[in-house]
Amino acid sequence: MYDKNQFQDASFIDDAEILGTLEQAKKLAADKGAVRELISKARECHGLDHRDAAVFLEITDPELEDELYSLAKEIKERIYGRRIVLFAPLYVSNYCVNGCTYCGFHAGNCNMFRKKLSMEEIDQETDAILALGHKRIAMESGEDPVNSPLDYIIQCMERVYAYKNSRGDSIRRINVNIAATTVEEFKRLKAAQIGTYILFQETFHRPTYAKLHPTGPKSIYNWHTTALHRAQEGGIDDVGTGVLYGLYDYKYETVAQLMLAENLEKVCGVGPHTISVPRLREAEGVDIKTFPYIPTDEQFLRVIATLRVATPYTGMIISTRETPETRRKELDLGISQCSAGSCTGIGGYHKEIGQPDSPDTAQFKISDDRSPDEVLTWLCEDGYIPSYCTACYRQGRTGDRFMSLAKSGQIRNICQPNAILTFKEYLIGYGSDHLKELGEKVIAKEVERIPSERVRELTKERLKKLEEGAQDLYF
Ligand code: SAM
Ligand code: SF4
Repeated sequence: MYDKNQFQDASFIDDAEILGTLEQAKKLAADKGAVRELISKARECHGLDHRDAAVFLEITDPELEDELYSLAKEIKERIYGRRIVLFAPLYVSNYCVNGCTYCGFHAGNCNMFRKKLSMEEIDQETDAILALGHKRIAMESGEDPVNSPLDYIIQCMERVYAYKNSRGDSIRRINVNIAATTVEEFKRLKAAQIGTYILFQETFHRPTYAKLHPTGPKSIYNWHTTALHRAQEGGIDDVGTGVLYGLYDYKYETVAQLMLAENLEKVCGVGPHTISVPRLREAEGVDIKTFPYIPTDEQFLRVIATLRVATPYTGMIISTRETPETRRKELDLGISQCSAGSCTGIGGYHKEIGQPDSPDTAQFKISDDRSPDEVLTWLCEDGYIPSYCTACYRQGRTGDRFMSLAKSGQIRNICQPNAILTFKEYLIGYGSDHLKELGEKVIAKEVERIPSERVRELTKERLKKLEEGAQDLYF
């Protein structure tokens, strides 16, 4: 809900500064010595500002490119180990009053079948998502003050949190991806136990933003661009940002993305908890051939590596918009969270509500339709440990408290055992026989990698307790 009296000063996204940054970066990128100095600076893991990071977007020398990619992998490994956090989106309503030209839900799309979930359907969807083994969801909705006002979203959150399946499992963290709103409404989301408030900027480039958002409240650039500031003011200190890559030049967007992160840190004292990197996909009524800026895989990987080294402690998220082949490379270069088994329609997890008989309500087409069990098998085979951990927010480790934990290096004594314990729970409750066998080997190896002997022993004890029927054990 728009309020002209609330904070909406988006002047920190300074077009001239972005263009100047890219021009200077081009020159510096041709200077091997200067690039290597930046690589050494990034290796210290204190992050880079947008001016320094932009140089990595501009390098063309293959040797320097290799050095950047090795550094991104090194930082990813050092900070996140081999953990990958899993989640699934839950679309509750596709009614939308906005005119975003790239989205299947936009108001003018008469071919889109409109639907919102009833509370009984929320139970069915939650049950189906839990049966896939998930514990963390991203709740998604179109913007519509009549069909999906904040009251409805909060009702959905309460219903999801309250639902328990036959094993006694429930969703433990709900991140919410809904329209920009007021500080008062963010306070209500906080009180409803939101995990992260996520809002994608779509594009930072003002003329492109105006062209692609011709109608609806989302057309107000300044209101949209400052939503995360208001969320922080409303007490939500885990906020997530992202650009929809493909709407405008990826270099411009990446520099602006970092400027937003810097400004959040300066104004609110803590930067974004996560950066998502969605890339434009085919959607009902959207012809992506009319979008000339979709980055190639190579360009997209460069963005991921650059963001990884520039914001080492910020989680990075990819979705099933990406194919399994590109997801593999993206995970390697810095992604720490990914979705699995996703459905972008309304009621698609529970087949009686969604497909195959109901009309298609999907926002866009996905590129990875493997089941979570298949994705987990693939992760394990690639040497990762899947994690369903939701402990930090439940332990109050949010905002700068999470950041100081991450920076202290203690993450390996907390996140690593939590990944092991939650993966074990997945295997017990939902794993296929093949994955159980593979997963146990991964767990045995990963337990030995916990640095603290005390935590290692405690983890072994808790693994036994899980086998005996305990649930939801975490550090
Ligand atoms: N309606 C809210 C909003 O727009 O901020 C909530 C999120 S919307 C359901 C989720 C995100 O999907 C959008 O922010 C946009 O970046 C992304 N999206 C829309 N159309 C897409 C497409 N064709 N391909 C890939 N992502 C798309
Ligand atoms: Fe509506 Fe969000 Fe789609 Fe825009 S991106 S049309 S606001 S659902």
